[in-house]
Amino acid sequence: SKPIVAILGRPNVGKSTLFNRIVGGRVAIVEDTPGVTRDRLYMDAEWSGRHFTLVDTGGLDFQEDSEITGHVRTQVELAIREADVVLFVVDARAGLNPDDLEVASVVRRAHKPAVLVVNKVENFDSPEKIYDFFQLGLGDPVPVSAAEGLNTGDMLDRLVELL
Ligand code: GDP
Ligand code: MG
Repeated sequence: SKPIVAILGRPNVGKSTLFNRIVGGRVAIVEDTPGVTRDRLYMDAEWSGRHFTLVDTGGLDFQEDSEITGHVRTQVELAIREADVVLFVVDARAGLNPDDLEVASVVRRAHKPAVLVVNKVENFDSPEKIYDFFQLGLGDPVPVSAAEGLNTGDMLDRLVELL
């Protein structure tokens, strides 16, 4: 069967927008309100002839202004367990967030291959905005704009190398 690629990250970083960009449709609901995607959503996707199943883990979203709960941590761990590769998404506009560190530590402990995707980069003139994300310990951050489709091809090249 096809490898499973899970999109992980805290609410509102653009997971569903990235999911839609990769599958080429508008199937995941994108909202300004965090936590709007209630269930995990699976779609078949393909890049450079490599087929995989993409999972939007929006249903794992936790409430804004609350700490990541034990329940959410468990759900993130379950999503990682079924994944072969993780797309870990952070938000360049918001900057590094304590919840990013929390979810990243779960990803690191799972020892699954991961691509660190820094989303909402519409302007590639100020790369210093992404340097902070090296702290997550998940390798070189890959800047993209899921909304505009900028650099998502390079990100997918990185992803399929890990499949
Ligand atoms: P999720 O909660 O992680 O699934 O995030 P969503 O995909 O629902 O997006 C959250 C918000 O970020 C929405 O208002 C999107 O329009 C916005 N957003 C998503 N991707 C981008 C991007 O690449 N650039 C910018 N500027 N905004 C984005
Ligand atoms: Mg979502």
